Amino acid sequence: MLPVVADEGRVVADVPSGLLIGGAWVEAGDGATLQVEDPATGEILGRVADAAVGDGAAALDAADRAFGAFRTLAPRRRSEILRRAYELTVERTEQLALLMTLEMGKPLAEARAEVAYAANFLRWYAEEAVRVNGRFTSNETGQGRVFTFKQAVGPCLLITPWNFPLAMGARKIAPAVAAGCTMVVKPAAQTPFSMLALAQILTEAGLPDGVLNVITTSSSGRVMEPLIRDPRVRKLSFTGSTEVGRRLIAQAAEQVLKVSMELGGNAAFVVFDDADIDLALDGAMLAKMRNGGEACTSANRFYVQDGVAEQFAERLAQRMEALVVGRGTGANVDVGPLIDEAQRTKVDELVTEVVSRGAEVLTGGRRIDGPGYFYQPTVLAGVPDQARVLHEEIFGPVAPIVPFSDTGEVISKANGTEYGLVSYLFTRDIDRAFHVTESLESGMVGLNQGIVSNAGAPFGGVKQSGFGREGGPEGLEEYLETKYVAMNVGGPLQ
Ligand code: NAP
Repeated sequence: MLPVVADEGRVVADVPSGLLIGGAWVEAGDGATLQVEDPATGEILGRVADAAVGDGAAALDAADRAFGAFRTLAPRRRSEILRRAYELTVERTEQLALLMTLEMGKPLAEARAEVAYAANFLRWYAEEAVRVNGRFTSNETGQGRVFTFKQAVGPCLLITPWNFPLAMGARKIAPAVAAGCTMVVKPAAQTPFSMLALAQILTEAGLPDGVLNVITTSSSGRVMEPLIRDPRVRKLSFTGSTEVGRRLIAQAAEQVLKVSMELGGNAAFVVFDDADIDLALDGAMLAKMRNGGEACTSANRFYVQDGVAEQFAERLAQRMEALVVGRGTGANVDVGPLIDEAQRTKVDELVTEVVSRGAEVLTGGRRIDGPGYFYQPTVLAGVPDQARVLHEEIFGPVAPIVPFSDTGEVISKANGTEYGLVSYLFTRDIDRAFHVTESLESGMVGLNQGIVSNAGAPFGGVKQSGFGREGGPEGLEEYLETKYVAMNVGGPLQ
């Protein structure tokens, strides 16, 4: 273990920098490393092992070897390991939050909130691990019985993105452990430290060797594809872009792998005339600016009814203009940098395109000069329906506003996308709330609130936002198979 994370020459955290394989922290087979950058400064924070194909294979060997014993470990023991990991995560909030802020850029307050969110998955699934049940019933004829029980699906591959580097890991690892699965986890190359720190915690909490294996690599495709095609793997859970998800689904088809896909979003944020506008503005700030707009759940399109559209746009612009942009470690900073220059260029292109189509910039609209990948919080009014910004995932601090006049029109606009992760709806009319909620084509709806994330609830999308759910009892089912026994028992159930 090396002190790998340094800031301005000062070591800020002791985090393992190797690969976790079979319970040991090891270097990549060829000794290669990859560097991790601070997106707020462009400086190098540290280096981690850069796995090659052989290292991936070794990690899967370890997960496969560990499965036989782990699947039969007492559920209470698995629960206790998760509970201990929850406690250690909470104890280390400050260290984990700083790591996350340095490698990903989000302000410390948001990083602390992510630590709490991640820890909650460990606690929730500690509680679920001892409640995996089947059912027993009589056949409809009265002759024979149906008996079902749940079994761990097998060794899993878990792939996570950079935007929530701790929580996206905990959201997969915790239910997999609760179910009795072993796993190979691959975090994003840009943010490996948070996952390595989480793996360290789970190891300290008593997770047996080989249950959790972590591979960091700059060659994701080359290292993961042979694993996805390996018949020993029984489950792939991926969080990331729809583009990569599509490719992985195709690879997973070869072994008819059980797959969960948490992909991109294009969330509509709908405000009706009758809404509580203060509440809608609070919700808009949360839905748009949590994680600086780099969230799959970020409000991507604001549809605001004619009667309040102007007022809403002006007040949202005032709130956005007041945000303090800066390095996430700074006092009172509200918004950090974007993850890299490619992301900032994409955001800037979307803004340039919509302005060329006649949209009005109410605030922001430009990149911020100097080191790091900063972009001004931006509000755009008069956005035409064809603008790219309404159809592509922005992943940045940009809020395009489109007025609408009636319910049918806004439902059709909100559903006019290939994505279907989450929608937000603000209204005080209960009939309208039910009608619109039921009509929206998304896996989740925030009704009069700008956040849906919750360890106890099923998070996930429809359409090209993916399939499968994370969180709640549904999240555990993703790691379980149901076995049914047809019992030859005579006579009706007494
Ligand atoms: P990404 O480029 O799709 O990468 C996600 C993960 O997949 C990373 O670990 C990446 O590794 C890996 N990867 C890339 N190509 C791969 C390949 N050919 N084979 C195996 N793994 C591969 O997405 P991102 O830019 O990190 O994350 C942003 C996206 O995630 C957005 O679209 C966002 O909406 C989505 N997201 C969805 C949810 C949800 O719950 N629905 C939550 C958070 C984020 P490298 O780092 O090495 O490229």
